[in-house]
Amino acid sequence: MQRLVLFDLDDTLIDRSGALVSWVTEFTARHRLGDHVRRQLIARLKDRASPAAFGEIRTEYCLAPSRDSLWREYRRDIAASVACSDAVLAGLAGLRASGWRVGIATNGPSDIQTAKLRAAGILEHVDGVCVSEAACARKPEVAFFVKAAEACDSSLSGGGWMVGDNPETDICGGQAAGLRTVWVSRDRHWPTHLAPPDRSVPNALAAIELLLNVDHSRGAA
Ligand SMILES: [Mg+2]
Repeated sequence: MQRLVLFDLDDTLIDRSGALVSWVTEFTARHRLGDHVRRQLIARLKDRASPAAFGEIRTEYCLAPSRDSLWREYRRDIAASVACSDAVLAGLAGLRASGWRVGIATNGPSDIQTAKLRAAGILEHVDGVCVSEAACARKPEVAFFVKAAEACDSSLSGGGWMVGDNPETDICGGQAAGLRTVWVSRDRHWPTHLAPPDRSVPNALAAIELLLNVDHSRGAA
């Protein structure tokens, strides 16, 4: 059976946080909102951006554009600004060439997550994509990981790996689903109150190199 690896998208394969800060900075300047609003919006949109969130932002800050217009603008701009490095794209291709089934397991609205995957060139390098909105389940729910494996024409029964930056949704969720886990630390410390991941690496490229080694050594991490 082919090995399965699921990758988180935001802040694992692409720098969503950096794109968000740049976008909010430009947005608040354009709407003549102060720096305190800039900080508020970054915090508010950090974990989840959605049409509903932009409806609340529109009302709270008395913005003229409609909710849907604000959401479309955000979706377009963020998708245009995120990128996946050539080295990581080549790494994903290398995993598949080595016999891995490679999937994307991401929480968020389907339209923007798909737009980011397409713009970053990731879609053509994976076997399947699972987005929470379309799956009607979210990480860390086990049901989400079941659907993510199915999207790759695979299943969790053969085990597999989850790679992500979020300790709760990616790592704890992956553990609960029976997957081995690689935490993309991005220079953070692991929260000690949680069960640790199998491996920690600084970035996605290091995770890919680790998995390619696991493959070559027949399972010994
Ligand atoms: Mg993430």
